[in-house]
Amino acid sequence: MSSWVWLNEDYCPAEHARVSVFDRGFLFADGVYEVTAVVNGQLLDFHAHMQRLQRSCQALELSLPWPVGKLEKIHETLVARNHVQEGSVYLQITRGNPGKRDFHYPDTSVPPTLVVFTQAHNILQDPRAERGLSMVTCPDIRWQRCDIKTVSLLAASMAKMAAQSQGADDAILVRDGLITEASSANCFMVTPCGKLVTRALSQAILPGITRAALLDICQQHQLGIETRAFSPDEAYGAREVFITSATTFVMPVTRLDGNLIGGGRPGSVATRLRKAYLARFGAA
Ligand code: PMP
Repeated sequence: MSSWVWLNEDYCPAEHARVSVFDRGFLFADGVYEVTAVVNGQLLDFHAHMQRLQRSCQALELSLPWPVGKLEKIHETLVARNHVQEGSVYLQITRGNPGKRDFHYPDTSVPPTLVVFTQAHNILQDPRAERGLSMVTCPDIRWQRCDIKTVSLLAASMAKMAAQSQGADDAILVRDGLITEASSANCFMVTPCGKLVTRALSQAILPGITRAALLDICQQHQLGIETRAFSPDEAYGAREVFITSATTFVMPVTRLDGNLIGGGRPGSVATRLRKAYLARFGAA
């Protein structure tokens, strides 16, 4: 059965959705996106995702002519029409189609392109949350504005392929000897003396919505958290390492570059935070 998507101003069947070859998203990766998780047919932390979308658009002087209420309606309608109980909604906005290839931004008469679609997949019962991920480090070759959620994801794809070719689940990125984040998630560790650590926000990492929710949960539970960068060596010796993202929530890492973390089993902090995160959205 075909799924519905939103393209520009209307819903249409996925196989009828067409974007021009001159679209700047296609030619220049000139676009931004958001991925919102769906659990029990409900969007998780939707408004936080829309705030980050507005921030990404501002950073790129990309206009966002749709009110958040309209974007929410589109998300909810697609979730309902496509019968998504569990999965995600993907939204992408590009600088549109100026009808030619030109590096300069077109004038504001060219409307942005808006695409929204859904993907159904299991996210609550993910066996990886029980066994933990095997990850490898790899050089962070991305550009210097990783705080903007652009569709330019080739470096992340390359990192995931490098991990796959080494038999690992995913990659953790390293710049100047320090972990920035995972290929598509933020990274945390618990030190041998029990301190929770994650890198501070900067242009080197994406301000994760899940990361922000976890920091809030930690504050509510008076769980101290240190925001600083850490090296792969420190992570190898950590009690726990875990990554966070909208569709994986809190995911333990039990092997990094062949080193067992926490004896190779998911740790109690990651397990408790995963539960607390899901409970916060009534998803557990
Ligand atoms: N960092 C990167 C590079 C990502 O791609 C993602 C997922 N989009 C994240 C962090 C996690 O962000 P969020 O919690 O908002 O999904």
